[in-house]
Amino acid sequence: MNAAETPGAETKPLAPGLYLVATPIGNLEDITLRALRVLRSVDRIACEDTRQTAKLLHHFGISTPTVSYHQHNENARSSELIEALRSGGRIAVVSDAGMPGIADPGATIAFDAIAAGIAVYPIPGANAALSALIASGLSAASFVFRGFLPAKEGQRKSALEKLRTSMRSDIGASTQVFYEAPHRIVDTLADVVAVFGGSHRVALAREVTKLHEEFVRGTAQEVLDTLLARPIVRGEMVLLLEGSVSNKTAEGQLTLAAEVRALMLNENMEETDALKRVAKARGIGKSEAYREWQRHKVR
Ligand code: SAM
Repeated sequence: MNAAETPGAETKPLAPGLYLVATPIGNLEDITLRALRVLRSVDRIACEDTRQTAKLLHHFGISTPTVSYHQHNENARSSELIEALRSGGRIAVVSDAGMPGIADPGATIAFDAIAAGIAVYPIPGANAALSALIASGLSAASFVFRGFLPAKEGQRKSALEKLRTSMRSDIGASTQVFYEAPHRIVDTLADVVAVFGGSHRVALAREVTKLHEEFVRGTAQEVLDTLLARPIVRGEMVLLLEGSVSNKTAEGQLTLAAEVRALMLNENMEETDALKRVAKARGIGKSEAYREWQRHKVR
């Protein structure tokens, strides 16, 4: 056990090391008591944006010095902070909101500190993806956090298409969690409808923990229609897609794997005979059909 873990640690000086501190994603009440103590006690706080963090520190009456740590100086700043940590320093890293290192700076310094044998302490707290997931109505038994989708339409659509293919062989059917920008959400949902079909279940978590918190749950088409009916879509948001994909293609046709499986089940056909029949009906070669079957047969 170390000082950061020991019950009653609040009375002891903070152990040397790197503290990755989660901060609120909207509601300031979501800061933890431990986060406040750590932010008060460290030598320095490395911030994604010092002005943003200054507001938080001011609110809680904390006067610890800050230093900038963002995507443009992450590498250089990390080496400088590692030197301070090597000589027994205590440094906190925070991002503008939520957990550092989750779609935010923080990973580089954590890797560097670990490589240098420096203690790294997570100080848990708010995170948009997890907060959205637990109230989404979609399964949280298994999920994949995917950060932001590509901003360009073509790339975004092919990322979704690839995803759909990989989800067909996802035995556990994991809910897919994305961060998305308000000015792209309508286009992204339209792409989800095109790739996964309008009846695929989704949830959109907007302004989580804030005054205008909202969850829009339903099929991709319903959620898209809800947004299209609004003059403007604002706020920070998390988009979640149900993990299981239907055995139909986006055009409503049965997938090759579903057809093969149906022949095996309903007509008692051997796998190879079912594959041959489906390949013939689709006008494709046996080896192409076999490859497709191998990729998708688990579902
Ligand atoms: N590090 C943060 C975390 O732990 O959640 C995420 C930072 S990322 C740069 C910012 C994105 O997170 C936003 O564009 C939005 O997609 C999502 N996000 C942040 N705060 C949110 C909130 N209150 N409600 C919904 N989504 C939020």
